Amino acid sequence: MSSAIPAEAKVVVVGGGVIGSSVAYHLTKLGWRDVVLLEQNQLAGGTTWHAAGLIGRLRTSNSMTRINKYSAELYAGLEKETGHPTGWKQVGSLIAAKSEDRMIQLRRTAAISELFDVEVQLISPDVAKEKWPLLRTDDLFGAAWLPHDGKIVPKEICIALAKGARKRGATILENIRVTDVEHKNGLVTGVKTSIGIIKAQYVVLCGGMWTRELGLRCGVTIPLYPVEHHYIVSEAVPGAFDELPVGRDPDLCIYFRGEGDAILLGAFQKYTKPWMVERIPDNFSFQLLDPDWEKYTEPLAAGKWRIPALQNAKFAKFVNGPESFTPDNNFIIGEAPELRNLFVAAGFNSVGIASAGGAGKYLAEWMIEGQPTMDLWSVDIRRFGRFANNLPFLRERVTEVLGLHYQMAWPNREFLTGRGLRTSAIHQRLAEQGACFGSKNGWERPNWFARRGMKPEMEYSFGRQNWFDCHAAEHRATRENVAIFDQTGFSKFIFQGRDAVRVLEWICGNKVDVPTGKVVYTGMFNQRGGFESDLTIIRLSAQEFYIVTGTAQAVHDFDWIKRHIDRKEHAELVDVTDAYGVLGLMGPNSRSLLQQVTDADLKNGSFPFGTARRINIGQAMVLAARITYVGELGWELHVPMGQMGLVYMTLMEAGRDFELVNAGHYAINSLRLEKGYRAWGADISPDDSPLEADLGFAVAWNKAAPFIGRETLLKQKQTDLKRRLVSFVLGDPEPVLWGSEPIYRNGEAVGYTTSGAYGHTLGAAVGMGYVKHADGVSAEFIESGRYEIGINGKRYAATAHLRPPHDPQRERILA
Ligand SMILES: Cc1cc2nc3c(=O)[nH]c(=O)nc-3n(C[C@H](O)[C@H](O)[C@H](O)COP(=O)(O)OP(=O)(O)OC[C@H]3O[C@@H](n4cnc5c(N)ncnc54)[C@H](O)[C@@H]3O)c2cc1C
Repeated sequence: MSSAIPAEAKVVVVGGGVIGSSVAYHLTKLGWRDVVLLEQNQLAGGTTWHAAGLIGRLRTSNSMTRINKYSAELYAGLEKETGHPTGWKQVGSLIAAKSEDRMIQLRRTAAISELFDVEVQLISPDVAKEKWPLLRTDDLFGAAWLPHDGKIVPKEICIALAKGARKRGATILENIRVTDVEHKNGLVTGVKTSIGIIKAQYVVLCGGMWTRELGLRCGVTIPLYPVEHHYIVSEAVPGAFDELPVGRDPDLCIYFRGEGDAILLGAFQKYTKPWMVERIPDNFSFQLLDPDWEKYTEPLAAGKWRIPALQNAKFAKFVNGPESFTPDNNFIIGEAPELRNLFVAAGFNSVGIASAGGAGKYLAEWMIEGQPTMDLWSVDIRRFGRFANNLPFLRERVTEVLGLHYQMAWPNREFLTGRGLRTSAIHQRLAEQGACFGSKNGWERPNWFARRGMKPEMEYSFGRQNWFDCHAAEHRATRENVAIFDQTGFSKFIFQGRDAVRVLEWICGNKVDVPTGKVVYTGMFNQRGGFESDLTIIRLSAQEFYIVTGTAQAVHDFDWIKRHIDRKEHAELVDVTDAYGVLGLMGPNSRSLLQQVTDADLKNGSFPFGTARRINIGQAMVLAARITYVGELGWELHVPMGQMGLVYMTLMEAGRDFELVNAGHYAINSLRLEKGYRAWGADISPDDSPLEADLGFAVAWNKAAPFIGRETLLKQKQTDLKRRLVSFVLGDPEPVLWGSEPIYRNGEAVGYTTSGAYGHTLGAAVGMGYVKHADGVSAEFIESGRYEIGINGKRYAATAHLRPPHDPQRERILA
């Protein structure tokens, strides 16, 4: 053991870029002072030093905006706190709109920003020119102005954060490389370094683009890969000065700002290049990749167009920096599900400087509290399965991800790269019948089916998209007749053992100790009373349960259940997602159709709502559950993957007489919204309680066993709710809702839609969202308001519903 490193520490942070420094800063700020940060080279020498230093506050969700806002506020005061100059300048930022669609996007952004507490002004091209006098504005539709954005010097912010951490007791050591994470029985015990071992209770991997490799060495999935990100800096340009705002022209895929008397011009091109490297060199510090002027032809031309003063400029500097990107353009933080007390903060997709302050704060809180302190699902490490860590997949996917920063944020936008990773056994059959697939957690899922003669391809817009009529037919068939859905992507677990029921009773709000064959809908809550997940549990026998949860939640929910099994308890959890396909047969005629192919008695008395059993379908055996997410009579059929083709064809053949149709996930979404059914990840999240979400009926308040979150929820029950999930239906039959639209009550913004769709039964768009009010949101308050929803810059009258907007079918579901 070298004397240069301590023998032990509470926390070892690996990596001294802006992220590692921020984690160390916040851990010490929150009182964990025994922190050692190890950097293999010098602080900030990885990706951080060459960043462009743009600090934007606004992101696409409330929690991500909170992260960035916090960063900007922290950076503004960091020089004063640490005595280290950071170069922070609140120069403001503007986003130019060169197309009508972009202007619509900016209007949507501006409308929601008020609810995220970020100031955004929509300005004319002339005002944009006043802000940025060198700008060409004659081809612009307008721009957005964010007065509180700014810029900093990235290297200095990293050093200042490290200095702040050191002041509060952290040990920061350079030129020490972590070669392995040490662990025993699934728990972290320390790190092995180039000069010896440090024992530690916690290890945080903040190794930037090196983090994937570090994860692989200890069996942890951290899917990220470096791509080349480019900017250039001109020589002096007349009229340029350092305080020019940060400018973005997403339609031309460029950003720019003043750099002294010169101009920095950066690019987020639609497709970019991965850094094709076998292994990222350990000593890649304060280094860049070779300039690639050829790849930069388009951004350079775009820059000269937007800033004519650049036409004759010389460019003194080409920065080609590698930066790690993830498969979905969101960074990765949290505790690794594979290894207790191993935390990760990496993969910052070229917004790591702007996010570092908040990411460090919320990660530190997560470590100290033992759980996230706000909804971090969009960046949670548990959103990725092992399949996402495949190298060829990553190298292909990241080519598309960098450009997404500036591509249109279309509703329902799907990736074009890295597709086809996980498919159901009837994928090809569905493709032949016109399925247009989307991907979720790697699964190809039919979203809608093209009619004969139509290509199953998306044409995006903020209004009705090209699949509107196909969707209408699928929606109506389900409401009025019968439709079949491939829902194979659902995550499925078998949970069994002598203590299985006890574990479930502790982690589920609803009563799970029910007779064999019963289906239970339940939430799993955190200590704050928020939804960690909502799921369906089928009791197969006294000691065996079949758990069905959302497609995206496989790793998260598996981890949540697993971590609540005590060592002494006899209970085993197995992920059987890939072993079973799922077919939903839904609609008022589903019983008559299903009865044609099974000898099981499907009458209500024999097979009531909320029960499940194994039945034969033709020559196959399936687990049939009588439940619904579309609000109609129906069965969810869980089919051994090898029999999916057989069951599907048997149903399709019998379905001919019934005019059975294939239907996709867009129909599920609109059908469930008409019925007021909530979706986890959109309408309910770790920040939302069942009381706020009006799902108190699915909580067994008086069950004998206590459950996680019960005390918090009981307290909340005694108080007036300050926010409440409400359904909305537009008065005008024309517009569509996608989610993230502001909700106005008596003219005042009170919330935003968490999801939306076109409800073809209602004949208008339908959505839901939380209505907030500091003095409480009683039914009377909700019902007495006059509501409007802001869509693409215009307000539309809407009716609020505390009951499902489409309700008459309730008796039919239960019959
Ligand atoms: C050209 C370019 C422009 C950018 N512009 C902006 C911008 O304007 N705004 C913005 O917000 N973001 C920007 N970014 C992104 C930003 O730079 C990154 O997101 C951020 O720097 C990532 O920080 P990090 O700490 O994760 O990684 P890094 O800075 O790479 O730090 C990771 C550190 O971990 C160390 N390490 C790795 N493995 C080990 C090990 N085994 N043992 C010890 N140490 C180890 C490395 O040596 C490295 O120093 C830009 C990126 C590029 C490439």
